[in-house]
Amino acid sequence: MQRDVMEYDVVIVGAGPSGLSTACRIMQLAQEAGQELAVCLVEKGSEIGAHILSGAVIEDRAMNELFPDWKEMGAPLNTAVTGDEVYFLTSDEKSVKTPHWAIPKPMHNDGNYIVSLGNVCRWLGEQAEALGVEIYPGFPAASLIIEDDVVKGVVTGDMGVAEDGSEKDSFMPGMELRAKYTVFAEGCRGHLGKELISRFNLDAGKDPQHYGIGIKELWDIDPSKHQEGLVLHGAGWPLSESNSTGGFFLYHTENNQVVVGLITDLSYSNPHVSPFDEFQRMKHHSCATDTS
Ligand SMILES: Cc1cc2nc3c(=O)[nH]c(=O)nc-3n(C[C@H](O)[C@H](O)[C@H](O)COP(=O)(O)OP(=O)(O)OC[C@H]3O[C@@H](n4cnc5c(N)ncnc54)[C@H](O)[C@@H]3O)c2cc1C
Repeated sequence: MQRDVMEYDVVIVGAGPSGLSTACRIMQLAQEAGQELAVCLVEKGSEIGAHILSGAVIEDRAMNELFPDWKEMGAPLNTAVTGDEVYFLTSDEKSVKTPHWAIPKPMHNDGNYIVSLGNVCRWLGEQAEALGVEIYPGFPAASLIIEDDVVKGVVTGDMGVAEDGSEKDSFMPGMELRAKYTVFAEGCRGHLGKELISRFNLDAGKDPQHYGIGIKELWDIDPSKHQEGLVLHGAGWPLSESNSTGGFFLYHTENNQVVVGLITDLSYSNPHVSPFDEFQRMKHHSCATDTS
């Protein structure tokens, strides 16, 4: 099949926080060195942020390094964390609050921000474009271009393909995006990443990856219960009933909203465990209802 070919210095796959930060940093370095670089970023979502799970607590360290004046620039880190609470749920009604001194260090969120990660990505996308990155949302990188055992770029997905695989009238073959450097920032379990890991044995001598299923909801709550900046984490019930592990989170973000979720570790041995139903049960616990 004849494909259009476009040549770049750098092609980046995926417009999550990592792909967008990479794009911005490469352009900043090029500008500092007085060099012109052609950088292209493809994202399979219909727009930047479309495939990003919003509602996260993030550190501002990387943002400080990338854009030291991000506050003046209007980055959407609007809700500073004001309090951390960690609970162990002992039953469907009861819980024990962990004293502050006993909370493990990585779970302390002093100085962190509750954000919509989708909005952070949209903002990073604007910065990347202003720095001269060509961004193509709606373009999945479908396959790798590997020649002489060297990654030379990616091929974007064909458009206008019918369900049975035949070409519709609107068929358009994907393009070859060739580059000196290709950066894969597909997130976890990206299909190209899996191919690269297996082909180049990138996991040799490494720990196997661990996975969980995370379900997240955004709630509008009674303003009288809203405590902007409060971060709650917890473990125990309901997963403890099936000897499974994981934990819940509840973040009071701006606009009287809370982000609520449950992560179920994918190491559960009871095949009847249903992460969705466990989340439904967890939402009725007083830890969730009293604080939201
Ligand atoms: C339920 C849940 C809660 C979380 N909460 C937090 C939190 O509170 N704080 C925190 O710091 N982290 C949190 N995380 C982790 C955080 O979301 C990830 O660490 C972060 O999103 C990883 O960024 P990334 O850019 O590597 O990948 P991703 O954010 O996964 O972005 C990858 C992007 O690449 C695109 N893409 C993938 N494949 C292709 C392809 N072939 N072609 C084109 N585009 C492609 C995707 O559409 C996506 O936009 C949470 C994760 C989950 C699942």
